[in-house]
Amino acid sequence: MQPSFSDLAAEVLHRCDQIAAQSELPGTVCRTFCSHATAGAVRLVSQWMRGAGLFVGLDAACNLVGRSADDHRPWLLIGSHIDSVPNGGKYDGALGVVLAIATAEMFQARFEELPFTIHAIAFSEEEGVRFRSPYIGSRAMAGCFDLTLLDRCDEQGATCRQAMKAFGGDPDRILSAALPTERILAFIEPHIEQGPILESSGLAVGIVDGIVGQTRATARFVGRASHAGTTPMSMRQDAMAAAAQWILAVESFANATTGLVATVGNVQVIPNVPNVIAGEVAVRLDVRHSSDEVRRSVSQHLKAVGQQIADARGLKFHWEKCEQQDAVAMDKSLVTALEIACRDASQPIHHMLSGAGHDAVIMSQIAPTSMLFLRCKGGVSHHPDESVEVKDVEVALQVIYYFIQELAAKKKSFHPIHRATK
Ligand SMILES: [Zn+2]
Repeated sequence: MQPSFSDLAAEVLHRCDQIAAQSELPGTVCRTFCSHATAGAVRLVSQWMRGAGLFVGLDAACNLVGRSADDHRPWLLIGSHIDSVPNGGKYDGALGVVLAIATAEMFQARFEELPFTIHAIAFSEEEGVRFRSPYIGSRAMAGCFDLTLLDRCDEQGATCRQAMKAFGGDPDRILSAALPTERILAFIEPHIEQGPILESSGLAVGIVDGIVGQTRATARFVGRASHAGTTPMSMRQDAMAAAAQWILAVESFANATTGLVATVGNVQVIPNVPNVIAGEVAVRLDVRHSSDEVRRSVSQHLKAVGQQIADARGLKFHWEKCEQQDAVAMDKSLVTALEIACRDASQPIHHMLSGAGHDAVIMSQIAPTSMLFLRCKGGVSHHPDESVEVKDVEVALQVIYYFIQELAAKKKSFHPIHRATK
């Protein structure tokens, strides 16, 4: 008998607890790439995948994949990442992995009837903690893994190559982890929202339309360090005051620009001493917007504002762009299928953007991709207080169930399956 949505939802949360207990630091959630804790989580996930009737394998990049069959049918990929940040929460990533397995369980008795096979994926690395580079697992699957990363060392001096080998991966054949894109029907990533919008709207789930683009840059104000007691106010070139003025300008500009979030979360001060006027301040800026055009023009504007502030104070100004990720739109037909699924599950249809990056960003390069967000308490994530309600997991399971029904119906109408009669 097929388990009920509510029984499955309770089991999903129970499994998240069990994954969380696999930790590098007991009492906290910490699973970095290829650690012993992650190996423990992968063992659990493997068991559950087998229990759901999936054939389980670890690929060269240490991604765990459970396949419902190995035949001519196209692949529906479902999953998220198994790693976590240090002192993280129980649900970021792990929830998407166990929801993928629960999905297989919902269809286990009907694997043969579906016009596609279900692949549950636990991406090996998304957070970028151990080797300071995110999306290691999905990049390998998407065929865009940067091979130079294999020789990068973690804080203990182990290379990424060594870490993968010790875990059971095959870094020398990492290109073999790339999926055959022509086989993939779609990828869907269920994930906690990591923000407060669903909760404040009273909604269990949301359909992600796109993932915002991001620019990271460093604004460097260079003045002159001098004595805090003997330098008159009129004769200072205070890099700290200039940086502070710019940070407030960033905030007010973001407040006045629809859809823009701009953050200064890191400041480096030289010499960083209470009785010395700061000679140099480097300010790290993070800018995100769903429109790449807006984001680029905002970056240019904030750079110009920094230059004006520096000029007015007689300082030098340097601007270094560090990282840039363009916005990613989710696949329209999958978004439509999710709308139908929400309607079938008697849920309001709510579209939203993701302000955070996800494996879906990378997978969208090789597959029609979509995401389903689940409400999390207070919007808190990357924190021990991450919390998800069992009722919301039940709703997510229903939506995914109807989503797959919808995909199956569509797929059948496109490619009718002819079965041999006995
Ligand atoms: Zn995540």
